[in-house]
Amino acid sequence: MDSSILDYVAQHGHEQLCFFSDPSSGLRAIVAIHDTTLGPALGGARMYPYEKEEDAILDVLRLSEGMSYKAAMAGLPLGGGKCVIVGNPRTDKTPALFHALGHAVNKLTGRYITAEDVGTTVEDLVEVSRTSDFVAGLPAEMGGGGDPSPWTALGVVRGMEACSEAVWGSADLSGKRVAIQGIGKVGYALAEMLHERGATLYVTDVSQRRLEQAARDLGAFIVGLDEIYSTPCDIFAPCALGAILNDVTIPQLTAAIVAGSANNQLEEPRHGAMLVERGILYAPDYVVNAGGLINVATELEPAGYDERLARERVLAIYDNVASVVRQARASGLPTSEAADFVARQRITAARMSRRQAMTAIEMR
Ligand code: NAD
Repeated sequence: MDSSILDYVAQHGHEQLCFFSDPSSGLRAIVAIHDTTLGPALGGARMYPYEKEEDAILDVLRLSEGMSYKAAMAGLPLGGGKCVIVGNPRTDKTPALFHALGHAVNKLTGRYITAEDVGTTVEDLVEVSRTSDFVAGLPAEMGGGGDPSPWTALGVVRGMEACSEAVWGSADLSGKRVAIQGIGKVGYALAEMLHERGATLYVTDVSQRRLEQAARDLGAFIVGLDEIYSTPCDIFAPCALGAILNDVTIPQLTAAIVAGSANNQLEEPRHGAMLVERGILYAPDYVVNAGGLINVATELEPAGYDERLARERVLAIYDNVASVVRQARASGLPTSEAADFVARQRITAARMSRRQAMTAIEMR
């Protein structure tokens, strides 16, 4: 971090940064609440063995801000927050640690709602739910929405359809060649949905077993880990790692569209402009991968989780992506910047109307 934490928080508009520790369970966690204008801050609890405290703080600050924009772009009545637990998810997990996390989350009295993230599982959240009600992403048998991954994949398909309409004048993906980097939980579900729609698939992964399954069941062509960028295709779908759109990979891309589930795909903001220069339409990651968040958020409805409502909202990712593409074309901004602009505008508009309502009440 170049500036001080307080400078960073002031520049990025975070509302709160909280440190929690529970010596008996070993919990060491940080929660950042970026913005609650649109609603309580929802965001997963990431468990990672951060080497430096500063890395954990920067991660939670960045991720919580991203959640504000993701929720705003998905049209959800939610703000952005995140939790990081400093620890090794393979060796440091105990039920007591997640019970302590529940107590920590309770101290924020509903301003922050936790969920699953990298390094935590649905089972861990079940433990958190024993001490806290401020938990989302629980299993279906507990009234939750279950695995978010197929919903994320459906949202990516809808984003691809919106981009396809913008580039080729038709949302039909049949006959399109799609190169998927990473066929894990989201990537494989995406591959299945694209296969059903008649797309031709090119896949890469570090897991040979998954590749063989995709080749056998979906007729996918297997390509090497480094070849995926230059594989001739219409759409490139990053579904594994962040920062994979960079100075080295962008010149290799042959696709007209990039749309995938991976978080933070642009290595740096300037790579959004670099994609435009190459004539590639980029579906901003947090707009196109919001399906899982939308599904989780549906659990918070007063009437409880409703799969039909979740589906309707995930399908609307088509409109969200189409609207960002229109804004980008009208403003001359890369889609990544247009999405940030729209998200900030939505939050600012909600804040203004709330202030006006407060002023009206005070003047009565
Ligand atoms: P996952 O771990 O199930 O799948 C990732 C896959 O990528 C694995 O099969 C892994 O073997 C493969 N992989 C790892 N390194 C690779 C490499 N160098 N090249 C190619 N493949 C590689 O994770 P997931 O839940 O499918 O999530 C995929 C991405 O989408 C992640 O970036 C995640 O943060 C993001 N995301 C997921 C969700 C969700 O609902 N699961 C929601 C939003 C964003």
